[in-house]
Amino acid sequence: MLNSLRNIVQEVNAARDLQSALNIIVARIKESMHTQVCSVYLRDGKKNYVLMATDGLNPKAVGRVSLRAEEGLVGRVASREEPLNLEHAETHPSYQYFPETGEERFSSFLGVPIIHHREVLGVLVVQQVDRRRFDEGDEAFLVTLSAQLAGVIAHAEATGVVVAVGQGKGEAKFTGVSGCSGVAIGEAVVISPPADLNSVPYQVVSDIEEEIAFFYRCLAAVRNDIGRMSDELRSRLSREEQALFDAYLAMLDDASLGGEVTERIRGGVCAPYAWADVILEHERNFNAMSDPYLRDRAADVRDLGRRVLAYLQESAQMCRVYPDNTILVGEELTASMLGDVPADKLAGMISVEGSRNSHVAILARAMDIPTVMGVIDLPYTKLDQRKLIVDGYNGIVYLDPSKVLKSHYKAIFKEEQALQKDLEALKDKPCETTDGHRLNLWVNTGLMADVMRSLDRGAEGVGLYRTEVPFLLRDRFPGEEEQTKIYREQLEAFAPRQVTMRTLDVGGDKALPYFPIEEDNPFLGWRGIRVTLDHPEIFLVQVRAMLKASEGLDNLRIMLPMITNIPELDAANALILRAFNEVMEEGHRVVYPPVGVMVEVPAAVYQAKELAARADFLSVGSNDLTQYLLAVDRNNARVADLYQSMHPAVLSALQEVVQAGHSENVDVSICGELAGDPGAAVLLMAMGYDVLSMSATNLPKVKSVLRAISKDQASALLAEVMSLHTAEAIEATLNTRLQDMGIKRLYRPNV
Ligand code: PEP
Ligand code: MG
Repeated sequence: MLNSLRNIVQEVNAARDLQSALNIIVARIKESMHTQVCSVYLRDGKKNYVLMATDGLNPKAVGRVSLRAEEGLVGRVASREEPLNLEHAETHPSYQYFPETGEERFSSFLGVPIIHHREVLGVLVVQQVDRRRFDEGDEAFLVTLSAQLAGVIAHAEATGVVVAVGQGKGEAKFTGVSGCSGVAIGEAVVISPPADLNSVPYQVVSDIEEEIAFFYRCLAAVRNDIGRMSDELRSRLSREEQALFDAYLAMLDDASLGGEVTERIRGGVCAPYAWADVILEHERNFNAMSDPYLRDRAADVRDLGRRVLAYLQESAQMCRVYPDNTILVGEELTASMLGDVPADKLAGMISVEGSRNSHVAILARAMDIPTVMGVIDLPYTKLDQRKLIVDGYNGIVYLDPSKVLKSHYKAIFKEEQALQKDLEALKDKPCETTDGHRLNLWVNTGLMADVMRSLDRGAEGVGLYRTEVPFLLRDRFPGEEEQTKIYREQLEAFAPRQVTMRTLDVGGDKALPYFPIEEDNPFLGWRGIRVTLDHPEIFLVQVRAMLKASEGLDNLRIMLPMITNIPELDAANALILRAFNEVMEEGHRVVYPPVGVMVEVPAAVYQAKELAARADFLSVGSNDLTQYLLAVDRNNARVADLYQSMHPAVLSALQEVVQAGHSENVDVSICGELAGDPGAAVLLMAMGYDVLSMSATNLPKVKSVLRAISKDQASALLAEVMSLHTAEAIEATLNTRLQDMGIKRLYRPNV
């Protein structure tokens, strides 16, 4: 059973398009369940269920039979979202007869819904002439298969939409979550991990002869490499290993392989895509063979395919031209990928994986690049060079937008720019409520580029300098002197304002390319302070660099990430003291910096008072705190809707931390993304937070909202929302109340 399941899913996964996937599904299910009919009905734009593929019913009925939800047995399965298993289908009150299917002959019926992300995509049906009660095992098999195929069908459907749009059939819309607000209108540049046959972007080429010549040049280069390698290793290889090289060379010399690729290039596609397409097809063919020896050759084909692809991509990358208004699209965008695009050309970003709290989204907000994350079903490899709109307010992507839609978004873009201009006037005004309560608005930084933008927007300090960012952009740990220089730049730029430098916070989703950490559960593993306490040599060098950089400026604060218990704080404090003594002994005149603790795991909330007693300040990392309180991976698009920053449990924890910190007379700040949300900022101010630290982009809006409200109004609002029991109710109330106060314009525009 498990084998048939696996084989069917694998085969469907490898299908070229939706129709072939559906044809494989019906044929394979019919065969494995020894039944006489298998059919798939999919929901169309009008919410009707259309027969899309069948093995057993009249094939002419495909595309012609369509049922409304609730109509017939299929409609009933769809509307009730559960299986229906009938021995005498024709006696069921919902039974409906469609003469074109010839289905009167089939008495037994088993239908299961195909559900993807709570949405019914369609219905899978098996039928049989004889009265057969499909047993529990049959039902379980079909339900399991349907659950696994739902994602594949959704993806194939989305790809079909992209192709249809490419043929001039209107615009398409894909939904994810907001990564950074704002609107971008531009052209897609798809980036994919190198040498990955499954994610090569589809690109159209105009100079076909040149592309073919390019392909053969790369093929010849790989042939040379393999020939050379084979010669060098000849004396050390067994005959079988040697034979593998010979087989590779033979494959490369095989005129038919080259022929298949050139045929595709002649159809207008770029060489890397054509090559990957041919290789994947050969791999599928080998995989389908019954002889185990031949089946094993699939791996060789894939390996050779990747070698050639790496060559093709590397050469193509060198001449990559980024259009103005580049919209970077990738399966999982990373910080280092951003570095490849000239800053003045990057207009927007779209990542298939990840969510609002992934680090790439945080960087996007730091750079103010409209971004949509977690567009799970986006067939991103087909988007290169296509026109896109990124609606970062609502997490929506439009492909090939109509003129009307474009002008609508252009208007929003202009409106937003006008708002920013108005907000510039607030730069030198204090963040003070209408009744004179003063709050400090600081910024989160990481890149040098953040510095100017932060100062331009009136930042009063740095609440979080993510030191891992310069670490992430290098190919080895930066040395002490190098770090001193980097930190000095930050401290100098903001002096005399305070700069809170967080010690290295790697692990989780922040992997240094030169210090890989492989774990099953990285967010619950070796990250933050756990790594640096295990590597005092890294911690000490970093703290020494920070201290030296602060000499004469005296505006450094040190902050410790991911503290979970008191011994970690004691150990870190001891190391900081040691570094301080060493630096002083070397003759530097440094002021001992305030040392603070990040409260970002639930344990730290419950021990906030004890931690505060041993620290100079607390700072809540609400991004991680939310993920750990709600047990929702901050990067996982599948559960992004459960990542609720205004969940009542999160708000209670935030309130407890402030109270605990203040009871020990230490300042409490917050440096998670929540602080940059104008509505949340009102609540945080009412809770008593001393500092809100956010991306420079959000600072003017937050200031403007806080200046428009009184502390009393904010406290009343806080009391009201704290009595509510769901994040949805809290957000709705907050929005309504703020709009009633006339603060509407600072929220997302009416998109
Ligand atoms: C946080 O967790 O809220 C935080 C500020 O740290 P980071 O996002 O870098 O993990
Ligand atoms: Mg964190």
